[in-house]
Amino acid sequence: MLKNTSLPRLAERLRHFPARPGTKIMEVCGTHTVAIRRCGIQRLLPETMKLVSGPGCPVCVTPDSFIDEAVALARQGVVITSFGDMLRVPGSRSSLEKERAAGADIRAVYSPLDALRIAAESGWETVFLAVGFETTAPGIAAAAMKALETKLGNFSLLTALRLVPPALKALIAVDTGLSGFLLPGHVSAVIGKQAYDFLLDRQLPGVISGFGAEDIISSLLLLLEMHNKDIYKIVNNYPAAVRDSGNEKSRAILSKVFEPVDAEWRGLGSIPASGLDLRPAYAGLDSRRRFVIKKETAPPRKGCRCGDVLRGLIDPPACPLFNKACRPDQPLGPCMVSAEGSCSAWVTYG
Ligand code: SF4
Repeated sequence: MLKNTSLPRLAERLRHFPARPGTKIMEVCGTHTVAIRRCGIQRLLPETMKLVSGPGCPVCVTPDSFIDEAVALARQGVVITSFGDMLRVPGSRSSLEKERAAGADIRAVYSPLDALRIAAESGWETVFLAVGFETTAPGIAAAAMKALETKLGNFSLLTALRLVPPALKALIAVDTGLSGFLLPGHVSAVIGKQAYDFLLDRQLPGVISGFGAEDIISSLLLLLEMHNKDIYKIVNNYPAAVRDSGNEKSRAILSKVFEPVDAEWRGLGSIPASGLDLRPAYAGLDSRRRFVIKKETAPPRKGCRCGDVLRGLIDPPACPLFNKACRPDQPLGPCMVSAEGSCSAWVTYG
């Protein structure tokens, strides 16, 4: 079993693995992107293989229009609560960080329950920016249930929740030249192994991986072995955290509160049934129903290649703005803002 092999031996195996020329593996999850570059795994890859990042950074795939809505709400005097990463993401003409500097009440929180508490204690209209994937969404669903139970009348959600499998389906609908997927451990803990079976129809293997160096390297070796032998399977290489069937309880909470809707992804466009919106029973918690949101818009930013980075079509340095006009201390695109963004990881860890 690969996982019991020591790290130096695993590293050597990867370095010398006879990968087929042109092998291209996508690491779907932003946490993997950062772990790979922080551990220097990109420097262990055999010359015949390449790793590319995918659309698994929630901040990165959230379109400008969502930030524009949040900015418009902040300007109306609503308290905006959000995970911290979202504050620096540029919208079409502003960001939440800029609005806060201009006096808007915008607060970084660690959990949607913090946002509920702010609403309950202040009595002010409070909006939580519901951004994230299947990992984050159950906690947000639980907060929505609590808001309804406690009849909290001044709390609502501006939703931009996204689902990973529909995005991967959209990605592989065209020929990407990919050889397999390093699949996200946290998301898989909720959705389970079978959620990726559609990859097998396209003869693409996948390995669900944890986030330590040994986890990642052993998962890459499993992928390379399958690719070399034309074996197409989804392997759970993170059984300590991921049950093959996922977490039924989390999925039940999710489907009680949310329903799938078509959703816009940065770089991928609109994808059928790839987002989550509140079900009719929770419609009173929908910020878009509660407020008239008049957002400013602008033409897409020139030069930013976030969309191509998120589809694994280019490496970040191929963007003309990379580490020049767009840097971690002065980001122009979301892939440079988020700690899990591919551009940020390339600058930080090389
Ligand atoms: S370097 Fe900046 S502008 Fe270019 S793709 Fe990355 S985030 Fe977007």
